[in-house]
Amino acid sequence: MFCTPESVEQVRDTLRFLTKEQIPFFVLGKGSNLLVSDRGFDGVVVHLGKGFDQIRVDGNRVIARAGAGLAAIARRCLEEGLTGFEFAAGIPGSLGGAVVMNAGAYGGQMADVIKQVTAMDEAGELVSLSGEALEFGYRDSIFKRRKLIVLEVTMELAPGDRDQIAGTMQTLATLRREKQPLEYPSAGSTFKRPEGYFAGKLVMDAGLRGYRIGGARISEKHCGFIVNENHATARDVRELIEYARKEVLRQFGVELEPEVLFLGSDE
Ligand SMILES: Cc1cc2nc3c(=O)[nH]c(=O)nc-3n(C[C@H](O)[C@H](O)[C@H](O)COP(=O)(O)OP(=O)(O)OC[C@H]3O[C@@H](n4cnc5c(N)ncnc54)[C@H](O)[C@@H]3O)c2cc1C
Repeated sequence: MFCTPESVEQVRDTLRFLTKEQIPFFVLGKGSNLLVSDRGFDGVVVHLGKGFDQIRVDGNRVIARAGAGLAAIARRCLEEGLTGFEFAAGIPGSLGGAVVMNAGAYGGQMADVIKQVTAMDEAGELVSLSGEALEFGYRDSIFKRRKLIVLEVTMELAPGDRDQIAGTMQTLATLRREKQPLEYPSAGSTFKRPEGYFAGKLVMDAGLRGYRIGGARISEKHCGFIVNENHATARDVRELIEYARKEVLRQFGVELEPEVLFLGSDE
């Protein structure tokens, strides 16, 4: 079942119902960091619907709802002449997903700009979290440990020069196009960066560049990505992830941890 609440009240009703009936649920953003099982997810997928993509600006503060896309927020920051969010312009996720993942790129991360988050717990109560309470780490936040739906986020940016902001966004977009296999579907970086190494380089040095299982392939352009080249199943991707982990561990003694999140029942 796929459920798209369109107001805070509807989110509350949904959560209360699902909790009371003990129905498992998953909160979906734009799904850009997910590998979903070929057998699907046996529960309810909750996706913030219409009305959750609003973006407001108050001085240097950007207050946006969790369904807003990072690209749309970055565009708005550019229009308002606010700097500090350029790093996120090319990340294809929603604000909610980016908060949960502490998404980051090119030296920036969500933790640097977030001041406060309003979320809702399973009982339907609103929770306000700020600063330290968000427990941000590398691709990590409190939301990975506490079941909360992110509803609204306040970010603080700084006044900047529009031309410079646009220039930075342009440069980062070009870098992405040059380095990342954006011509194929993927879930972004497959693995987290292990301390002292680069995951893509380890996979490449293990001799796995272009290695295929079924329709899934380790990108030739960037070995940190697994791309869906030809109708790959989730199982193909999963097996390729496990194979790459095994080989990197065997050859270099480094344990790779997936950044991609798995959803649904195991095959
Ligand atoms: C081509 C490509 C490039 C990428 N580049 C980057 C990059 O440079 N840096 C980076 O960090 N990531 C990158 N990613 C990964 C991904 O885009 C980010 O992790 C993004 O923040 C995920 O957002 P989403 O809305 O798609 O979340 P989803 O994939 O839908 O979900 C991710 C997690 O967030 C949770 N979630 C989503 N919305 C909410 C909410 N409202 N409340 C509570 N929980 C929620 C989900 O339950 C899940 O646990 C890339 C992905 C692709 C495909």
